[in-house]
Amino acid sequence: MLLTEFELIENYFSSHKNARSDVIVGIGDDAAIVRVPPEKELVVSTDTLIAGVHFPTETSPEDIGYKALAVNLSDFAAMGAEPAWLTLALTIPTADGEWLKRFSQGLFELIDKYSMQLIGGDTTRGPLSITIQLMGLVSPGRALHREGAMPGDIIYVTGTLGDAGLALLEKQHPMNLNATQRSELHTRLNRPTPRIEFGNQLQGIASSAIDLSDGLSGDLQHILNRSHVGATVYVEKLPRSKSVLEAVSTNENIGLALSAGDDYELCFTAPEKANAEILAISKNCLVSCVAIGIIEREPGLRWINADGKPYILPSQSYQHF
Ligand code: ADP
Ligand code: MG
Repeated sequence: MLLTEFELIENYFSSHKNARSDVIVGIGDDAAIVRVPPEKELVVSTDTLIAGVHFPTETSPEDIGYKALAVNLSDFAAMGAEPAWLTLALTIPTADGEWLKRFSQGLFELIDKYSMQLIGGDTTRGPLSITIQLMGLVSPGRALHREGAMPGDIIYVTGTLGDAGLALLEKQHPMNLNATQRSELHTRLNRPTPRIEFGNQLQGIASSAIDLSDGLSGDLQHILNRSHVGATVYVEKLPRSKSVLEAVSTNENIGLALSAGDDYELCFTAPEKANAEILAISKNCLVSCVAIGIIEREPGLRWINADGKPYILPSQSYQHF
């Protein structure tokens, strides 16, 4: 069933148009208008997902819709911001009703979970690509930033690293995983959980934060660059799931945790005295969180092995260019 552009927007993207009372003009006009509370700051971010680059081409339409928003929400988590509105720029090869229905189901599942509203977008024909612009709110001066890490601060990571990377690897080289493990890993790849609540609670506690999209080794470097500091990280402390630990050798699972990317966990720093508060947040949010290293005055990123000797990175984190 092929649709006109109007039908397509009307059928699949206009359904929850009264979700938020702060939307003055939503889908259907030349631009959207929202009411920004005077006591808040507006937070804006954009991310594009391209078929074959950011997700395997065989990914289900529901998962593509879900992931496209999840990766944007992960940026908001790293800022400690509260998501509110989004626009969707969708490029699709054909106006396939069945595909659009499933895509929008996955997308709206997450939109509804965070009480957000889709307020506009653009629809074009071409190779599949999804761009979401996310808008939301934060109290003045309370957002988390990549800069702000201080010598002596502890470096923390939420959740586990390398699961999405293993899911991708497992597609190419079938491994000794049971059905439950395989399904959990693929959920981590296709439906990452943005750490919105965790990031929000880190306001006033974390000295810096970033979300892990391209792999810890590259992403932590962004915090160091912006904060003008260095760090030592203990690789045996990197949180890894049982599946990752069991499926591949120690060297490979450290490699996955450091460089595979697509984890969408948070990496943040905080002074040592905040440790008890951080453990309480972790408990509140039901998301694990571990210390992996320390911020130092000396520039550079030093990786230390279980034996206390330097660990040499096998590869760099994902770079688009
Ligand atoms: P224009 O040609 O004036 O830019 P469009 O025909 O592209 O308008 O869009 C009409 C309305 O539908 C606008 O309000 C726009 O924001 C909305 N819209 C278009 N594509 C999408 C989409 N993929 N998701 C949500 N809203 C969309
Ligand atoms: Mg217009």
